[in-house]
Amino acid sequence: MHRDVDLLTERTFDVLVVGGGVYGLTIAYDAAQRGLAVALIESEDFGSGASFNHLRTIHGGLRYLQAFDISRARESVHERRTLARIAPHAVQPLIFALPLTRSLTKGKLAMRAGFLLDRIVSAGRNRGVPAAHRLPAGRVVSRGTAIQRFPGLRRQGLTGAAVWYDYETTEADRLTFAWAIAAAEHGAVLANHVEAIAPTRDGRRVVGVRARDRQTGRELEIGAHVTVNAAGAGVDRLLIPLSLSASVPLLKAMNLVTRREAGEEALGGRSSSGRHLFLIPWRGCALFGTWESERTCAPDATGVSEAEIAAFIADLNQAFPSLDLKRADVTLVHRGIVPAVASPNGRATLQGHEQIRDHASEGVEGLITVAGTKYTTARGVAERITDRLLAKLQHAPVLCRTAATPLPGGGLRDVRLAIAEARREHDQGLPTDTIPHLVAAYGSRYRDVLDLADGHPEWRTRVAEESPVIGAELVWAVRKEMAVTLRDAVIRRTPIGALGYPGDAAAERAGRIVGAELGWSEARLREELDALRAFYGSENALKT
Ligand SMILES: Cc1cc2nc3c(=O)[nH]c(=O)nc-3n(C[C@H](O)[C@H](O)[C@H](O)COP(=O)(O)OP(=O)(O)OC[C@H]3O[C@@H](n4cnc5c(N)ncnc54)[C@H](O)[C@@H]3O)c2cc1C
Repeated sequence: MHRDVDLLTERTFDVLVVGGGVYGLTIAYDAAQRGLAVALIESEDFGSGASFNHLRTIHGGLRYLQAFDISRARESVHERRTLARIAPHAVQPLIFALPLTRSLTKGKLAMRAGFLLDRIVSAGRNRGVPAAHRLPAGRVVSRGTAIQRFPGLRRQGLTGAAVWYDYETTEADRLTFAWAIAAAEHGAVLANHVEAIAPTRDGRRVVGVRARDRQTGRELEIGAHVTVNAAGAGVDRLLIPLSLSASVPLLKAMNLVTRREAGEEALGGRSSSGRHLFLIPWRGCALFGTWESERTCAPDATGVSEAEIAAFIADLNQAFPSLDLKRADVTLVHRGIVPAVASPNGRATLQGHEQIRDHASEGVEGLITVAGTKYTTARGVAERITDRLLAKLQHAPVLCRTAATPLPGGGLRDVRLAIAEARREHDQGLPTDTIPHLVAAYGSRYRDVLDLADGHPEWRTRVAEESPVIGAELVWAVRKEMAVTLRDAVIRRTPIGALGYPGDAAAERAGRIVGAELGWSEARLREELDALRAFYGSENALKT
């Protein structure tokens, strides 16, 4: 993948996607795979919005069954299975346990009924899935088993536990980026750090956007027959000049990344308001989510305050009384703005269904807006949008193949075997935890990264003390994956900074590797290092 901004202006595209989150990327990939000429621009970096901040769970729709939303539950199960089939290196089964109390709606009986329904809805959950990724059915266990097997569960009023499986993605940002690689490999022209400023028009028809390359300040006009507005919380910005609005209320959501050790299982609990909160074991540490603001917020309300973090911690300590979580345990705040449903009293709850709007119904042709609600189901939504795009472009129907085509590196059937083979072939001189990380991050393509290190023993060593990432991955990120800032390389292309700021020495080391590739001056390197620190500082309401 090479960043060539000139390619964006050399032709009129069938489809221009604005926004490189998981929704924009899956749409770009599907449209390109079905033969359309596609461009995608992302104002920051691919996967840096809500898609960076999700809870790392790829979940079937157990909770939708509580509301008898069978079609949504079915879609979630289908997309969960699809990811296990097309990217088995990137997802792993994870056991969940939720405490049950004496209650008509949240007790054992209700949960048993829920699991019965789930067995029907998710009957095909393991079809075509590699053996190690097959998920057992959910079940209810007794109080004694719950206490013995899941000691972190809240015991007060405990009558048993609901136990089920979903997937987790450890290399979450690599999974998001895999859609970008797939789109590029099918001919899509993608560029990060290019911001759409306003739509361009021919009468009431949108014919592309005016954009700015944030690396150079240069303005561009990108032409397209249809523009897909997948800008996440920023969708309205593109609509305002057209006197339109997506009319999607928004709320703030956050997770806390901590250095607290976690076991092997995800544990549930209830917040003071009765919402489910989860402790997710991620990279050996506990990740907690998801807090949601009670009221709607503005699209640019991206920060979270110390008071909001403190309230979330208090809720977590109530949900998990043995936890005793402290502010100092938090190393990074994941936060995002997501679609909500607003009630007349101003209260907000998460929107369950994605919103897709073809603005032709409002008299503006050539523009579709999508507001996605769930990482897990993005591919399925992209399939439906691409069907519409083909129809709008009067293109002959083409079958969607994204559910059946392995994502880049996704061709491994047995991930454990692949790790064992990789250890045999390549382990020499590598840190002990690097091979499993490389396979989870790059799938079958991990060899390309290691090949790059041939003749460069210094690139086969750790960049940060506690991270399995080696220098070659940063070089790869710059040469092949469009990393143009230190943040791109350290926060998203590699997980050096996944658990928090990696420390000045590691940041400097990473900066020197990336800077050597990109020809940075010493002054530019300092700016990049400051920007990296700022990400973990004020932007995330975090003291470093
Ligand atoms: C705290 C939290 C926890 C979550 N947990 C889960 C979970 O466990 N499982 C799950 O399935 N889902 C989860 N979700 C939901 C999921 O993360 C989102 O539904 C999904 O990531 C939305 O993707 P998106 O592409 O629509 O938005 P985004 O990822 O926000 O992408 C939109 C992109 O558009 C770009 N952009 C904006 N304006 C412009 C412009 N003018 N020009 C160019 N680019 C622009 C932004 O920079 C951004 O990168 C969670 C969300 C949050 C916030």
